Amino acid sequence: MIDPYGRNITYLRLSVTELCDLRCRYCMPEEGVCKKRHEDMLTEDETVGAVRAAARLGITKVRITGGEPLVKPNILSICRRVSQVPGIRETVLTTNALRLKDLALPLREAGVKRVNISLDTLDKDKYAYITRRGRLEDALAGIRAALSAGFDKVKINTVLIGGFNDGEVPALAELTRVWPVDVRFIELMPMPGNEDFGEEAFMPCSGVPEMLPDAVPEKGHDGVARLYRLPGALGSIGLISPLSSHFCAECNRIRLTADGHLKPCLHSAEEICIKGMDEAGVLEAMKKAIALKPRQHGALSAKEKSLSARAMNRIGG
Ligand code: SAM
Ligand code: SF4
Repeated sequence: MIDPYGRNITYLRLSVTELCDLRCRYCMPEEGVCKKRHEDMLTEDETVGAVRAAARLGITKVRITGGEPLVKPNILSICRRVSQVPGIRETVLTTNALRLKDLALPLREAGVKRVNISLDTLDKDKYAYITRRGRLEDALAGIRAALSAGFDKVKINTVLIGGFNDGEVPALAELTRVWPVDVRFIELMPMPGNEDFGEEAFMPCSGVPEMLPDAVPEKGHDGVARLYRLPGALGSIGLISPLSSHFCAECNRIRLTADGHLKPCLHSAEEICIKGMDEAGVLEAMKKAIALKPRQHGALSAKEKSLSARAMNRIGG
């Protein structure tokens, strides 16, 4: 479906849970989430029904996310059913990789074509710090499992945090020469709950190329990422800059939260609840959500916070 600003909306980011086995400092509070009543969350049937409605409106790609999608007991069934919805050409998933050691192959078999894995540091103490509880070795084991499982693509997403991991940019980029992975550096977004991050943490991706003097710019782009490549690398390096150069003009996405709220824009408080609706109702709600997509979101910076009413784990990043 085309939105009021001429953008073709083809991409659904589908959050299947708010829960997570990590507590990344930029994403969710240390105490986790206030557990909702089971009946307030979308059921598997409602989730798949929403994807069917989205496909009728022209959605072709679904990214399954969370929270951590792999803590969801029925994640394989959700992936299988979503990937079988007529019109859905790509089912992809974003994960912290901790459970991929056991789930990579079953996910591939359930129709997941590509995985994005979040990894902000290669230092085990810093990993434990930023995730508040994770073990780097488990994430690395998950990445290796993903590489063996035969996904079309494995990407590593790194949130660039000034004063925390900017010194690791060369080492993280070097992963593209060791493994057939793409590495994406993403600017830290000032979401609700990010008050602990000072101004220096919100550094622009524009500083990355000078940290990688060997990297050569590539023609074109991958979605919203500007691309570079190290000589002899197996994968590309991408820079995603939601703060320093927002990409609203190319936005082709809509989001559905695990508790059944459609979000026309990541950085707006606007939501439409579909919980309990039949499929015809969901279809109308989706049309409305797409029609409500703003031309662009407001400025984002250390001082100008996202207007989203939710932390990232409750949206689906
Ligand atoms: N648990 C999965 C994971 O970590 O990959 C999926 C959900 S997580 C919310 C999705 C992505 O959002 C992750 O790559 C994470 O780094 C990113 N993210 C969370 N909070 C962010 C923030 N404030 N700024 C930029 N990216 C953020
Ligand atoms: Fe969990 Fe992903 Fe958020 Fe980290 S970024 S707390 S792994 S949902």
